[in-house]
Amino acid sequence: MAKLDEILTFNERFVENKDYERYATDKLPHKKMAIVTCMDTRLVELLHSSMDLKNGDAKIIRNAGAIVSHPYDSVMRSILVAIYELGAEEVYVIGHYDCGMTGLTHHPVLDKAKERGVDIEQMSGVDVETFLSGFDRVEDSVRSSVDVITTHPLLPADVPVHGLVISPETGKLDLLARDQFRSK
Ligand SMILES: [Zn+2]
Repeated sequence: MAKLDEILTFNERFVENKDYERYATDKLPHKKMAIVTCMDTRLVELLHSSMDLKNGDAKIIRNAGAIVSHPYDSVMRSILVAIYELGAEEVYVIGHYDCGMTGLTHHPVLDKAKERGVDIEQMSGVDVETFLSGFDRVEDSVRSSVDVITTHPLLPADVPVHGLVISPETGKLDLLARDQFRSK
């Protein structure tokens, strides 16, 4: 059975059995936090559990690498919506050790795209190198993302931004930067 069909079958039972009831909450983050973190599969439940977060506690924004790459990208927009529309009062940037974005460069990605029949010439005029690059050290990336947030003109002056790195094995958090505020 295709994965999608398995999911749809499971989902019917989930709803019929009212398994959703234990997740009931509302759309506001009860702990008034917005978290930017990585899409790494090891963090799906570990991040919540290791930070004592339950369904409904925090707005979680995930991408590859927990990177806020540009002041006007979708991550920054999500942070601002979390603050202004949903009541978040703190921002956490949480990268992790052993991240797949460590050392990522555009060459192997483009090679794989070519192998799969993609005409990469369509990308001419695009800064593919920046678009498909990761970072050398997760600590530097977290600090850089914190900088993008704290220099954003739309960040309220009273919202602290914290930078951390989590272990994808133990969930241990290492604090890199705490209580960074808007600097412009
Ligand atoms: Zn990662």
